[in-house]
Amino acid sequence: MTTTPSFPTRTHNFNAGPAVLPLSVLQKAQSELCHFNDTGMSVMELSHRSKPFEAVLARAEAQLRTLMGIPSHYHVLFLQGGASLQFSMVPMNLVHNTQPVDLIHTGVWSKKAMTEIKRVTDVRVVASGESQQFTALPDLSGVGFNPDAPFVHITSNNTIYGTQWSQFPVTSAPLVADMSSDILSRPIDVSQFGLIYAGAQKNIGPSGVTVVIIRDDLLTRCPHNVPTMLQYRTHAENQSLYNTPPTFAIYMIGLVCEWLLSLGGLPAIEGITTARAQRVYDAIDNSPVFLCPNDASARSSMNVVFRSKTGDDSVESAFLAEANRRGMVGLKGHRSAGGLRASLYNAQTDDAVSALVQLIEEWGTH
Ligand SMILES: *Cc1c(COP(=O)(O)O)cnc(C)c1O
Repeated sequence: MTTTPSFPTRTHNFNAGPAVLPLSVLQKAQSELCHFNDTGMSVMELSHRSKPFEAVLARAEAQLRTLMGIPSHYHVLFLQGGASLQFSMVPMNLVHNTQPVDLIHTGVWSKKAMTEIKRVTDVRVVASGESQQFTALPDLSGVGFNPDAPFVHITSNNTIYGTQWSQFPVTSAPLVADMSSDILSRPIDVSQFGLIYAGAQKNIGPSGVTVVIIRDDLLTRCPHNVPTMLQYRTHAENQSLYNTPPTFAIYMIGLVCEWLLSLGGLPAIEGITTARAQRVYDAIDNSPVFLCPNDASARSSMNVVFRSKTGDDSVESAFLAEANRRGMVGLKGHRSAGGLRASLYNAQTDDAVSALVQLIEEWGTH
């Protein structure tokens, strides 16, 4: 007789990143942790130059291409250093003239991108949500993007403030998007972008790997005096195997993509995540205690930000303590924004969302 292993209850994990992963993905990884396929080794123990690992890498890339519909004239790279290194690599590789970079400023992460771009060239902030404390997205309809800018930078989802672009501007200069916190959450038209980057630990896998999707013509822009490891060209020419890549993290991305494909791909996950977020927003909007400060049209389906109506911290800390008691973690807002935040990435569970919604509803009747 075989017994089903019993798992201790999973925590309702609302962390912003590293974040919840699908249980079925973790179980699959567990089942082949010590014996991957017929290798008699763990994926972690494989040489990155071996056939079995090359297959892992090729599969992760192929599945990303299928899910996102990435055209063949784009390279997919698996790099290290997080999205934060991309703040530097993007300008080091793409600045090819003396025109300023056009940047859309929507919060802490776009500010960090701006700081690093400024080390390389000038930045022109073409739109900013700063005067509204980033609770709304700036209007782009009147923006005259410079066609000769080396690139235009946008942050697709503002993890800290809980705002998300529903559409992207059409620009003649290459549009570069930091999609760290909403990549693979909805279908997008990759051909609208020159470059997309995302740290994996929010929505597509564990920390340690960064996905870069770059249009081929942009690979040749990089000056040759840029360090080898910091040139996209190096990694494109070597299929992300110039040096040892984060092998296990890449394997996990492959499993997450496989899981997404089994659900029906990005249109399916978009339906799931927007419905989940709506449940939480509805609970907040109906609450006598909490409010979401964000403009309805800008609200993120990945990070739901809310706070006490009176601005009373003690209400928030009491809520957090009770949430904790009920097995919910990660609901504290980012240290720079305060308040509360529920991250509802692809792998979030309906059970966790139900527990949160119930608590928000109950809090109103206290
Ligand atoms: C988390 C995050 C980052 C930073 O990612 P690291 O991988 O920690 O460098 C950058 N941009 C956005 C939008 C993020 O959410």
